[in-house]
Amino acid sequence: MMWYDSLRFKSTNSNPKWNPHMRYVKPDNFDIAAKLLQDEKGISRILSGGTDVLVQLKSEVVEPDLIVDLKHLAGMTDIIEEDGGYRIGAAVAGAVLGEHQGVKAMWPGVVEGMKLIGSTQVQGRATMAGNLCNGSPAADSVPAMITADAVARVHGPDGPRDVAVSEIPTGPGKISLAKGEFITSIFLPARPERASDAYLRFIPRTEMDIAVSAAAVSLELDAAGICTAAKVAVGAVAPTVRRVKDAEIALIGSKLDDTAIAGLVSAVEAACSPITDKRGTIEFRTKTAGVLAKRAALIAYARAGGQK
Ligand SMILES: Cc1cc2nc3c(=O)[nH]c(=O)nc-3n(C[C@H](O)[C@H](O)[C@H](O)COP(=O)(O)OP(=O)(O)OC[C@H]3O[C@@H](n4cnc5c(N)ncnc54)[C@H](O)[C@@H]3O)c2cc1C
Repeated sequence: MMWYDSLRFKSTNSNPKWNPHMRYVKPDNFDIAAKLLQDEKGISRILSGGTDVLVQLKSEVVEPDLIVDLKHLAGMTDIIEEDGGYRIGAAVAGAVLGEHQGVKAMWPGVVEGMKLIGSTQVQGRATMAGNLCNGSPAADSVPAMITADAVARVHGPDGPRDVAVSEIPTGPGKISLAKGEFITSIFLPARPERASDAYLRFIPRTEMDIAVSAAAVSLELDAAGICTAAKVAVGAVAPTVRRVKDAEIALIGSKLDDTAIAGLVSAVEAACSPITDKRGTIEFRTKTAGVLAKRAALIAYARAGGQK
């Protein structure tokens, strides 16, 4: 289903299938929110930007009994410097993140992944936490968060805990958070000089579509321009965003010469296990994932100050 298909909203809520018991709650703090979510017997959803939730409601994909709005709680819309990195509140919208000079300079690939989501209107609401917890294998902000080693701060009935972003999606529409848990912020760690990242996706149109394939690459270089650390992740080519360690090994120790790039491409292709659907075949998705990983690696290398 394309995004614009899901936007054919019904003009009335008088449909008999509309859940008359749906409750919207704005709790006073995280503990109350966790208890509400834990005690709920029916279906619950967190409302961040609502750009997935409201579309799913209108198209009757889901009829939640409880909607918990957390945007007003402390820190949810803040971006703060912490330990040389950035803590991004779970309700920070893409448009706000895209204007933050510090995050843009340190993690440009994370910002470009988020900025590819939707339109100007969607950018005003959509969040990284919502993108991650919607559980789509094609979620645009997730590959670069994974290559950034981003960590989600999760609040639940037992209080807060930190979880690697890579451990949260478990399959299409599925995440590992327990009942009562939700994300309060996402932490992007500090990085050394001569380090950068990039994210690219392929879509059949120029904008407003779901990735057919995608790749994020994050690199660290030494003073001579040799790659000392690499992270590679691909999107939309497996049930979840997939990290490709063999591709990382191919890049480390090189200046991203032809041999290293060929190793990256073949490792990425080998890691793909996509489906064929109306938007792309297995072969097409696999091939384009390799091409995107190569291009993203070269962009990240140049951004990190590498010269070929
Ligand atoms: C027109 C349009 C175009 C789009 N284009 C793209 C695109 O190009 N790429 C793309 O990846 N997506 C796209 N999307 C999907 C959507 O905009 C993104 O997934 C967005 O990032 C969701 O964020 P949100 O804050 O709106 O999430 P919401 O809709 O508020 O929530 C989404 C899900 O995450 C859960 N959730 C929200 N916040 C939290 C939290 N803090 N803790 C735990 N769970 C939480 C909710 O319960 C829900 O299941 C598009 C949507 C529309 C309507």
